[in-house]
Amino acid sequence: MTEQISKNDTLFARAQKTTPGGVNSPVRAFRSVGGTPRFITRAEGPYFWDADGKRYIDYIGSWGPAIVGHAHPEVVKAVQEAAARGLSFGAPTEAEVEMAEEICRLVPSIEQVRLVSSGTEATMSALRLARGATGRDKIIKFEGCYHGHADSLLVKAGSGLLTFGNPTSAGVPEDFVKHTLVLDYNNVSQVEDAFESMGDTIACVIVEPVAGNMNLVKASPEFLQALRDLCTRHGAILIFDEVMCGFRVALGGAQELYDIQPDLTALGKVIGGGLPVAAFGGSAELMHNMAPLGAVYQAGTLSGNPVAVAAGMTTLKLIQQPGFYARLAAQSARLAAGLTEAAKEAGITFCADSVGGMFGLYFSEDVPASYAEMMAGDRAMFNAFFHGMLDEGVYFAPAAFEAGFVSAQHDDAVIDETIAAARRVFAKLA
Ligand code: PMP
Repeated sequence: MTEQISKNDTLFARAQKTTPGGVNSPVRAFRSVGGTPRFITRAEGPYFWDADGKRYIDYIGSWGPAIVGHAHPEVVKAVQEAAARGLSFGAPTEAEVEMAEEICRLVPSIEQVRLVSSGTEATMSALRLARGATGRDKIIKFEGCYHGHADSLLVKAGSGLLTFGNPTSAGVPEDFVKHTLVLDYNNVSQVEDAFESMGDTIACVIVEPVAGNMNLVKASPEFLQALRDLCTRHGAILIFDEVMCGFRVALGGAQELYDIQPDLTALGKVIGGGLPVAAFGGSAELMHNMAPLGAVYQAGTLSGNPVAVAAGMTTLKLIQQPGFYARLAAQSARLAAGLTEAAKEAGITFCADSVGGMFGLYFSEDVPASYAEMMAGDRAMFNAFFHGMLDEGVYFAPAAFEAGFVSAQHDDAVIDETIAAARRVFAKLA
């Protein structure tokens, strides 16, 4: 066993010499759970393998994109064929037109869309568009929602009603975030009060309609409807950040699930199928504010990259197979129910929730509805559970604050293997 983990340890030691913390995105480090990150050598279907050749059932799916399973043969083939035709042109392609048409067809609130390369770019650009179109500066975001790492969105959660936020990150000047108002998720009256006192200065409200960056926390339908109504009444733009939940909770995203149309939508993850594609879109009228038609500037050397678009388009085709989302939702629900039952048998305080292909695991009595409720969960128990499952060959997100993802390749056998492993782990933790 000692020998088995040695390659991950060796690589981690090497990585830390040339890369801060040894990782290229902080969530990959095992900072909150402790231990050595696994270095992945290959992935297939619901599995990936680490540098020691150990197989894991993967419940991260690259943090969302791998919805059809890893290395799906059709996606890989499309990527290989596109790559052979050239990697990047810096001029438009027919594939980009098709991808835009497909997104507009699948997401009814989107009439025009711009492709970018990361979720951060999508939300950052949507925000700039909202400000440019309204001529207003203030934005509302919610505690616990993550919208990428643009300066004005990196605001520390925890600010109270009508308190302007502080940057969570060093290097973000106070001046940059003085227009960012942070309110409590699922709290309608706070948003009403904010609009009441400063409605004519608020450019937009940005929200994860199904929050997946504070574990999984669903918005209440009343909350999203209130955001819709308040934005309409006060001439503010409602932005749904569906980078994570888009094409994940339903084919038409959270806006289909809740039947609420935002003015702008940010997309990412699934629409790239594992390669860098993200997008933002809305009504043609609003999108006409973008350069080269309008005064809001945004651009990208690799935007609409042909290889990435090939992966994305093929993934978008695969998720439209009949019954795809019903199956995905059933598998997430099976996992959530099975884990809950296993914890109950062991007498461990635990609950779980799921929506579409997303799930949340909570070491608390009840499913949380806010950041504060989510933070109240037992982190030590989560960490012990995480490592127990890792030993069993099941890879959950290495932090108690992240949602989990199921792919179409997580069949009954894979889910049941996970639950059996959890039963052994819970028994040890009890
Ligand atoms: N918005 C949401 C809701 C996200 O989950 C993420 C990434 N986890 C982002 C934006 C940023 O996307 P990216 O990491 O591609 O920049």
